[in-house]
Amino acid sequence: MNNSVIEIVNVTKSYEPESKALINVSLDISQGAFVTIIGPSGCGKTTLLRLMNGMTGIDSGKIIVMDKDLENWDKIQLRRKIGYVIQQGGLFPHLTVRQNIAFVLRISSVEKQAIEKRVSELAKMMGFDERQLNAFPSELSGGQQQRVGVARALASRPEIVLMDEPFGALDNITRRNLQHEIKEMHRKMKITFIMVTHDLHEAFTLGTHVAIMNKGEIVQFDTPENIQHEPVNKWVKEFIHI
Ligand code: ADP
Ligand code: MG
Repeated sequence: MNNSVIEIVNVTKSYEPESKALINVSLDISQGAFVTIIGPSGCGKTTLLRLMNGMTGIDSGKIIVMDKDLENWDKIQLRRKIGYVIQQGGLFPHLTVRQNIAFVLRISSVEKQAIEKRVSELAKMMGFDERQLNAFPSELSGGQQQRVGVARALASRPEIVLMDEPFGALDNITRRNLQHEIKEMHRKMKITFIMVTHDLHEAFTLGTHVAIMNKGEIVQFDTPENIQHEPVNKWVKEFIHI
């Protein structure tokens, strides 16, 4: 694909000599796609996600991010281009909601007025009032904390957003609401989303493309429709019908 935003080529990764977390993984993600990554626990989903912004190093292979080898990216610049959301928000407990949202902008020395403006925009988008902006994360519900996590990831207007089971710990209703909001955001903004999930419904309804992993490998990467119509093997067929 020539409009690829992240290209992973033949990547292998092990944390320990005898066991490989990723085996010869290749994945080409197009600009504007919404890629969901699903597979059994321990199959390498988080590892795959974290190597896309250099949080985890690789043993062999290469990763091209926005036409540039990951090795040649300035790490701070990369953090501004790639937002990252984790389960339960991963918020800084000692910072207010406002300070959490502003964090990436502050460390990349954006001027104060511009930060305030951006925080106001995000607060409006996510439905936070002044009181909530001044609260600490522990004073908010799980769903609200997750919204703060999303706002923080979007603050620097990234081109790519990585999410690792962002809604995993939420109750069903809150989860469905946030899924809906993320889908709308993807529709409106020109952002490429890559989301790890263990929820099949989430993977197939949010993803324009789904990567199905097992034991360190991508077993199938295709549109939800194609995977449902033509699972590549018996394992995928059974996996998507549990
Ligand atoms: P998933 O997100 O699909 O559950 P992970 O990418 O977290 O899988 O893990 C893939 C494999 O790598 C697992 O076997 C896990 O135990 C191992 N692993 C992950 N992180 C580390 C680490 N920091 N040190 C050692 N082993 C790890
Ligand atoms: Mg994981």
